Amino acid sequence: MARIFLPLEAKPGIIRITGEKARYLATVLRTRPGDDLEILDGKGHAYAAKVASLSKKEIVAEVKGMAAHDTESPLSLALLQGLLKGEKMEIVIQKATELGVGEIVPAITERSQVRETRKTSRWEKVAEDAARQCGRTTIPRIHKPLPFPDIFFGPALPFFHESKGLLFWEEGGLPLKAVRKRLGEDCRNLVLAVGPEGGFTREEVALAESRGFLTASLGSRILRAETAAITAIALMQFLLGDIG
Ligand code: SAH
Repeated sequence: MARIFLPLEAKPGIIRITGEKARYLATVLRTRPGDDLEILDGKGHAYAAKVASLSKKEIVAEVKGMAAHDTESPLSLALLQGLLKGEKMEIVIQKATELGVGEIVPAITERSQVRETRKTSRWEKVAEDAARQCGRTTIPRIHKPLPFPDIFFGPALPFFHESKGLLFWEEGGLPLKAVRKRLGEDCRNLVLAVGPEGGFTREEVALAESRGFLTASLGSRILRAETAAITAIALMQFLLGDIG
């Protein structure tokens, strides 16, 4: 079924979809009059709709009501990701979205090779596309890149204060089974910190630990940052979330 995000208060009745979303429905998804359509408002609500008429410029659809559809995990995950080069950041954002992360905070760390901080709108698009494709009911929030210490000490990222935290460190750390015991079965908010290509410095590890983060291991092999991020998210969804 065709699925789109529309930032509107979809209520039962007729709606008109224009611009890029109309073009996407008409030319990419080849939607036809009579087709069912799922409209996601990005805030956790899904609506069932039917296409009434369509052109490349405008689609008229009838919203029938709320659809019973929630694909969000009971585990709220945030990913603190050391900035990565080239397309790797986009890959991480896409995969993290598919795996159910709700917040992504790009971190400028001591060993970040890139300090490009103007890609947020591109990354938001990557997250929206991935969310639509995988049937998420919410679009992950992509924060502006922040220096690593500011994430811990700077003006609040509200979820940070409600969450427990794990920093993944290739030089040592608790195995995930031990992490799960330490976090407790009822852990519902978790920040996962993954370093850039060059890893976190000892000082950064110490800083996170001083803020209550546990240091965690993903085994004895050194994973690429993007592999580490995807693996960490998938395993935490398995241990405490909605996979498995
Ligand atoms: N500094 C390393 C590589 C860093 S890997 C070197 O160049 O040798 C990039 C990031 O992936 C790390 O900062 C860490 O967060 C994560 N990571 C990779 N392998 C890991 C492992 N085995 N355990 C925990 N985290 C790992």
